[in-house]
Amino acid sequence: MKLTEIDVPGYERVVRCDDSDSGLRALISVHDTTLGPALGGLRMWPYLSDQEAFTDVNRLSKGMTYKSAVAGTGLGGGKSVIIGNPKTDKSEAVFRAMGRFVDQFNGLYTTAEDVGTTVEDMVLVREETRHVTGLPREMGSSGDPSPYTAYGCFLGMRACVEMALGTNDFKNVRIAVQGTGNVARYLCRHLHEAGATLIVTDIVEEKVRRVAEEYGATVVDPEAIYDVECEIYVPAALGATINDDSIPRLKCKIVAGPANNQCLTVEHGDRLRERGILYAPDFVINAGGIINVSVELEPEGYNERRALEKVRNIYDAVRDILAKANAEDISTNRAAILLAERKLEEGRAKK
Ligand code: NAD
Repeated sequence: MKLTEIDVPGYERVVRCDDSDSGLRALISVHDTTLGPALGGLRMWPYLSDQEAFTDVNRLSKGMTYKSAVAGTGLGGGKSVIIGNPKTDKSEAVFRAMGRFVDQFNGLYTTAEDVGTTVEDMVLVREETRHVTGLPREMGSSGDPSPYTAYGCFLGMRACVEMALGTNDFKNVRIAVQGTGNVARYLCRHLHEAGATLIVTDIVEEKVRRVAEEYGATVVDPEAIYDVECEIYVPAALGATINDDSIPRLKCKIVAGPANNQCLTVEHGDRLRERGILYAPDFVINAGGIINVSVELEPEGYNERRALEKVRNIYDAVRDILAKANAEDISTNRAAILLAERKLEEGRAKK
């Protein structure tokens, strides 16, 4: 087991994890623990280079700091990634080795599932460290965060619909969803039940077919999703899909969805605003999962009723950010970043 510290300005601790026995190659990034110990998921993805994984883990880790700051979870921001293919490179040894690396943080970083990992993988991580959340309900934990992320996202989308479309329901609202994975499937169910018309895509055909059958959605090719005439474009796959190429193509009035780091840069949020597209800042609208997990860490332990109560605050949180951006004549993502930074400043002042 080899742990290599990497100095990254603005980050509290970033390490590279190599374990030759299991073949694990991973990175753990703790961005900021001003407001509490860092919590963020463990992603497994076939990154094309170490640099790509390094950029991703640090962007995600900072996003977690902002997400928890705005949602008031009492947690800081961190994230980890395993460089590998979740279809072919998973093993008990890989996740147990990851658990041993997480354990080296002595609770400064707690992990959970994310893209490419599952509740079952976290059970293996738990063999080596107690600093892991989102374990099965039978273990007294909060389980899969995806339904809570989806529910919060649905409520945040309603706030956007009210502001941009002047209606408070989803009847006949056309919604283009990129990625039909864990969160999107739950989200599509809410939207379908609320009367929305769904257009969906995924790079995995069986996933998109299942959602199409369950919710009567129309399927388009992955590349065609940006060109779909719709009211809402929902990024629910990976990050950075709001960029120079996609923005001119979008034919929607709202961008709102669960994916992390949707805008490639902060300026891409400004570009959306210039095009008259309302953007729900990702780390505000997709906080349902971290809110659910954070309840697990409360002294009384996990309680679903309490978690849902807190997730419902996302409606107000999104509405407040949209209103703040309007009042200050800035893009919604800048308004959200300013709010997160202010919460961090307040936290630093109290220390
Ligand atoms: P997931 O892996 O279950 O779903 C992602 C889906 O996107 C997969 O089905 C994948 O095949 C598809 N995909 C990948 N690239 C694509 C592309 N170019 N075009 C179309 N489809 C593509 O992951 P998830 O847990 O549903 O998370 C989705 C997003 O939401 C991620 O960005 C994640 O970081 C974010 N998020 C998830 C949670 C949670 O609770 N799971 C919480 C907050 C944020």
